[in-house]
Amino acid sequence: MEEHQCCKQIRTDRAFYSHQCPRKGTIVVNGKWYCWQHDPERVARLCKENQEKFDRKHQASRDERYRRLAEQDVCKGVSTEELEELGTNALRELLDILKGD
Ligand SMILES: [Zn+2]
Repeated sequence: MEEHQCCKQIRTDRAFYSHQCPRKGTIVVNGKWYCWQHDPERVARLCKENQEKFDRKHQASRDERYRRLAEQDVCKGVSTEELEELGTNALRELLDILKGD
């Protein structure tokens, strides 16, 4: 059986040029050969898994932010001046939290 090379172009971080993946193609997708590593289905699955991991991580940090903001009960029994003062502080703290990424 004729051997086919993986069609994937690879670019390394330190190179401006790209080269073709040297591995042997093991799967054909839309008429193109891919090796096990560049199998589009595998790549799509890994991308999806990474995306889900990313979403979970950021969901957690968002919840933490909202929880902390909810703990800052700035509107209880305070005068307008105090409220403005507290509002400014709360805004500053919000910005600090947002910067804390
Ligand atoms: Zn490949």
